[in-house]
Amino acid sequence: MMLGVLLARAGIPVVVLEKHADFLRDFRGDTVHPSTLELMHELGVLNEFLERPHAEVRQVRGKVGDELVTLADFSHLPVHAPFIAMVPQWDFLDFLATKGRHYHPAFRLLMRAEVFELIERDHRIVGVRAETPSGVMDIHADLVVAADGRSSTVRNLARMRVDDIGAPIDVLWMRLPKRSEDDATAALGNIRNGHILVMLDRGGYWQCAFVIPKGGYDELRRNGLDAFRSEIAGIVPWLANRVNDIASWDDVKLLTVKVDRLQQWHRPGLLCIGDAAHAMSPVGGVGINLAIQDAVAAANILWRPLQHGAPSVADLAAVQTRRELPTRVTQRVQVFVQKYVLFRTISGRGPTKLPWPLRLLNRFPMLRRIPARFVGLGVRPEHIRTPDAGRA
Ligand SMILES: Cc1cc2nc3c(=O)[nH]c(=O)nc-3n(C[C@H](O)[C@H](O)[C@H](O)COP(=O)(O)OP(=O)(O)OC[C@H]3O[C@@H](n4cnc5c(N)ncnc54)[C@H](O)[C@@H]3O)c2cc1C
Repeated sequence: MMLGVLLARAGIPVVVLEKHADFLRDFRGDTVHPSTLELMHELGVLNEFLERPHAEVRQVRGKVGDELVTLADFSHLPVHAPFIAMVPQWDFLDFLATKGRHYHPAFRLLMRAEVFELIERDHRIVGVRAETPSGVMDIHADLVVAADGRSSTVRNLARMRVDDIGAPIDVLWMRLPKRSEDDATAALGNIRNGHILVMLDRGGYWQCAFVIPKGGYDELRRNGLDAFRSEIAGIVPWLANRVNDIASWDDVKLLTVKVDRLQQWHRPGLLCIGDAAHAMSPVGGVGINLAIQDAVAAANILWRPLQHGAPSVADLAAVQTRRELPTRVTQRVQVFVQKYVLFRTISGRGPTKLPWPLRLLNRFPMLRRIPARFVGLGVRPEHIRTPDAGRA
């Protein structure tokens, strides 16, 4: 969506295909980071975006047992909005779609259009075939961009080689109501009794993520819903009076965590970006922002070549060269946290009190700026270099 908006804004005709009828997917995550907000500023739409319902997270807090630690402080970042805006991703995508529509007819968004085949000619991808409400549609293009997420159909159809980096965890995803003054004391990450609960503030309710070992869901279910509810109340005791809101296992969604990366992000006529090029773990909540950064880099590099037709393989390779380092570094940190913090904790080898590096963050608040920079801006933040060719 972001790449579509940027290219259409630069005068390049774009068709964005989305297989669903809307963007209402619960699993998408909610974090719009300072780097992305800065891009909204560069597009001149930051204030308009922040007029939409959102919560502002200036500090991220974690709890180990009863000990609280401020893990990151975004308020010193050199950007116009030094905070994470908690906005459900469907609202963010709707916002971008509205911006894109200003550039109609260069920008076209087709909902309920599911790509199921690539159109190839002379070893070059020249378009896609999609199932739409009005039948099968062929869309020919100078460039196909696969931004279809971590189970990317397009990258599979293109037989791209994937390095599976692996994730030892999965996540159970559920909602719990907000109810009392205890809500104000909530921390984002909570570790206790060998369990981990992440709580995202979605305004009217808590979106909760409970971390389990990969493949551990069936065993958890065998232990029964009551045992599961007690485990949650054991981590955050003031949730005890609301865990019964989890009425059945239907209220608990299993989200499979994947970390992988394509060896080569492109083929002639095709470029993969976002999770389609590199599936991100939920650790740090940075996947959305990395996908956005890929889109900005791709637009910056490709808008000129696209004015003259199909970009060369060298143009496409330049996008991978630009974005591979930030991806590798971020995934490496995610894998480290998955292995040494999350998996250790849920296999009973984790901390029962605040580890010393986290104590340092409490003692020297300046240090909180380091994780804030890594999470909030990331490695090699992108800036918009594409022009605004004007609205239609
Ligand atoms: C449990 C969990 C929680 C997470 N929480 C966060 C978080 O809080 N913050 C964060 O930044 N990241 C989070 N992430 C990571 C984040 O969700 C991804 O990194 C990010 O959504 C990637 O964006 P994307 O645009 O590449 O792909 P996606 O967001 O997956 O979007 C792909 C789109 O393509 C569409 N599509 C798929 N196939 C087709 C097809 N064949 N034809 C047409 N359309 C198709 C899909 O419907 C979807 O809309 C989380 C991940 C997990 C697993």
